[in-house]
Amino acid sequence: MRPARLNPLFRPATALPGIGPRLAKLYAKLLGHAEGARVVDLLWHLPSGLVDRSARPPIAALEAGTVATVVGRVLSHERPRNRQSPHRVVLMDESGTLGLVYFHMDSEAVERLLPKDEDRLVSGRIEVYNGLPQMAHPDYVLSLEEAGRLPEIEPVYPLTGGLSLKGLARAMAAALASLPHLPEWQDEAWLRRHAWPDFAVALRGAHAPRGASDLDPRHPARMRLAYDELLAGQLALALMRERMRGRRGRAFAGGEALVARARAALPFELTQAQIRADAEIARDLAEPQRMIRLLQGDVGSGKTVVAFLAMLRVVAAGAQGALMAPTEILARQHFATFAAIAEALGIGSAILTGREKGREREAILADLAEGRIAILVGTHAIFQEEVAFRDLGLAVVDEQHRFGVHQRLALGRKGAGVDLLLMTATPIPRTLTLTHYGGMAVSRLDEKPKGRKPIATRAVPVERLEEVVAAVRRAVGQGDQVYWVCPLVEESESVDAAAAEERHAYLAALLDFPVGLVHGRLKAAEKDAVMAAFKTGEIKVLVATTVIEVGVDVPNANAIIVEHAERYGLAQLHQLRGRVGRGQRPASCILLYQGPLSAPAEARLKILRETEDGFRIAEEDLRLRGAGDLLGVRQSGFPDLRLADLEVHGELLEAAHDDASLVLARDPDLRSERGEALRVLLYLFERDGAVRFLEAG
Ligand code: ADP
Ligand code: MG
Repeated sequence: MRPARLNPLFRPATALPGIGPRLAKLYAKLLGHAEGARVVDLLWHLPSGLVDRSARPPIAALEAGTVATVVGRVLSHERPRNRQSPHRVVLMDESGTLGLVYFHMDSEAVERLLPKDEDRLVSGRIEVYNGLPQMAHPDYVLSLEEAGRLPEIEPVYPLTGGLSLKGLARAMAAALASLPHLPEWQDEAWLRRHAWPDFAVALRGAHAPRGASDLDPRHPARMRLAYDELLAGQLALALMRERMRGRRGRAFAGGEALVARARAALPFELTQAQIRADAEIARDLAEPQRMIRLLQGDVGSGKTVVAFLAMLRVVAAGAQGALMAPTEILARQHFATFAAIAEALGIGSAILTGREKGREREAILADLAEGRIAILVGTHAIFQEEVAFRDLGLAVVDEQHRFGVHQRLALGRKGAGVDLLLMTATPIPRTLTLTHYGGMAVSRLDEKPKGRKPIATRAVPVERLEEVVAAVRRAVGQGDQVYWVCPLVEESESVDAAAAEERHAYLAALLDFPVGLVHGRLKAAEKDAVMAAFKTGEIKVLVATTVIEVGVDVPNANAIIVEHAERYGLAQLHQLRGRVGRGQRPASCILLYQGPLSAPAEARLKILRETEDGFRIAEEDLRLRGAGDLLGVRQSGFPDLRLADLEVHGELLEAAHDDASLVLARDPDLRSERGEALRVLLYLFERDGAVRFLEAG
């Protein structure tokens, strides 16, 4: 339960003065809260600038484009001549005259506000009209007695159409006034070292900048707030990690002999990177703590075999291993890669997807439950309730970002203290592994297997389709096989399939060798048959929708054509291209596009032509799309950062990570005085899911 003292902050924003149902919609939009903004959302909305009204220049010295405060006498009024023209007022001081203009305003009201022959203080933005200084709709008009009410410096907030700064400022003042007293959750010595203020002072200060330096994200108040947010996130992740690790883990050791035999049976030598990753995993497995490790390696870097060796290590100790792939084709391919070797080693393995049904499925489940199957490869089907292992020791999740957090957790529940190996082709910058995984251990395959050929990449407009077909004919003439990837129509799989069918018919008519077709609407057995025929080389050209996107491996396929390349994201194009370049001959990739290209699409195609470096491509992707999107974490429920900006506060993230680990090492249940305060912090930043982990014990 959220501590009661935080309740005022979690009231709907409509509890604040001036926010009615109509404006509530706009605030929801501004603060990115479709379900309706709360008071706390407003508090996290920090100013982006300020207006300084302290300058009081004489009228003759006014500069266009600045905000100024002027004191003068009202000289005259001129009512509007028609609906388009404004009500004009002339204000005068010793140095000159200033025009004040009001559009669409009741003239009597203006005359009451600025009585003729009286002195008034006005403040607003200066412009020049017909060579004379003018102020349209002054922000403030005060009598000299009221002059003290003029705020000298006002914060400026990002707004959305229909909201006014004045309205926001009023609501914000009320929001700040409702800030409860909160205990200090930061370490006192750490605060002193950085000269950071306490939370309430920092928040109030951030909303009341006195000068430009107060708006700097490195200002102590802003640093403090950023650190609070980062610490909440790191603490939540650390709690979850501890919980996933479980109090007891298992130690798997002694798999060396089996692994050596498997390595000898492989048709290739492991790369140095694979050897290193295998050793890191072996070390984790041998420890009594639960393993949660990410194996990152670019497309084609050979992650699957590393996973296989890891499973063997667990099997050698008498437990079972499971590998989960995001698609059925991929699961079958993984299975094909090591089923033969497993068999030669006398290890039972099986595949389980949505396809295995009835008797066959019963048999697999029974063999699994009794331990006759030591290694299981499959799709989501493995998550199902009825799938029970005799003793699951290691779960591997391939292309892990394709699975939700919940599925990953569900897998962990299939066995006590199951070790987890997550695999991804997406290079994840350290800041992101920290924010999204809480600094999980990472093994990187930063080296490709020997003999990989560079992939000549070209972008070709679709008008030159016939030339591309001719190139396909030549490639097949040389003994290569070709992937032809069809347009991605996100809304509908059947439209995808239709487009692929059409392209297949077109190519089959033009080419005098077997052209295959595979898409998501085919029956599983049909899919398999086509993939198998492509793998054996019987089919020369495979027309496919993106079902081939992840991980499919046919070394003799040396060319890939991607239609409507402009519709794909960078990472997806890189994945697709990674299907080729695994064989003996030089590989090629043609990105067939439909012009005119948008600027981002052009940038994507350019990057692909320039580089095959997965790290660089991921960086560019990050730049073009934003971090959350890259990992697919937006959908998986990781909250966005509101106060911290990783570009500026990146180093605070490291500190928060260490701080969180230290706190939990000393006070795993958050029961100390600081621990209790940290619970408040978790609720404040809505990381309370983590508190539930605590409560569940
Ligand atoms: P990814 O990391 O993209 O999942 P895979 O595991 O599918 O890559 O491996 C891609 C291809 O490289 C497979 O055909 C695999 O057998 C092969 N391979 C893996 N390791 C090596 C190696 N050390 N030397 C040569 N080929 C390798
Ligand atoms: Mg793979």
